[in-house]
Amino acid sequence: MGYSLDALVLLTVSQFIRNLGYQAIPTMNDTALAIPYAVKAGLGEYGKHGLVITPEFGSSVRFGKIFTDLPLTIDSPIKFGVEEMCNICDACSKACPSRAIPNNEPSLVTFNVSNISGVKKWTIDGERCFSYWAKINTDCAVCIRVCPFTRDYTRFLNRRWLQLANSRFRRVALYLDSKQKRGRRVASRKWWVLKDS
Ligand code: SF4
Ligand code: SF4
Repeated sequence: MGYSLDALVLLTVSQFIRNLGYQAIPTMNDTALAIPYAVKAGLGEYGKHGLVITPEFGSSVRFGKIFTDLPLTIDSPIKFGVEEMCNICDACSKACPSRAIPNNEPSLVTFNVSNISGVKKWTIDGERCFSYWAKINTDCAVCIRVCPFTRDYTRFLNRRWLQLANSRFRRVALYLDSKQKRGRRVASRKWWVLKDS
């Protein structure tokens, strides 16, 4: 569904831009890397698991892009405590079933041809990750599930948690997260019951 909605939004917005008289080329995961653009556009901050973490949805997002000559106001990258939290957290690295996420400092290290080189950042071994997806015949996203930023921010307490995570008390935020049931795996039988109820 996520990809279907992505296509719908990209196509309709692109057509709207064309109707205004400008060029618009909609793209999903093709044509250019979405993550650097998302970071540059201020949609979120880059995390140790190699994904963008947004203040509205954590990493539970899918990005699309539209290349256009429509004149736009340019946004700037944002900071809301992700880098600082990733420096003291290793939840994704510990939970990754394929051991694709190193718990290290940002560096120039690359694992294979699938990584871009020359950028100092947290880099994950994408080939290990995708090999695991192929092995289990589906996608994984454990790193998204266990990340403390993956929360329902329509809830007051989760918005307060985000403020704590972006303060000098972020270790308290991490501790509180470790005490919550959020992010733990739900047994398949229970999940289906929850979905049906
Ligand atoms: S999707 Fe799964 S295998 Fe891939 S990096 Fe995340 S936790 Fe690891
Ligand atoms: S799980 Fe922790 S280390 Fe990994 S991206 Fe989320 S905050 Fe950063």
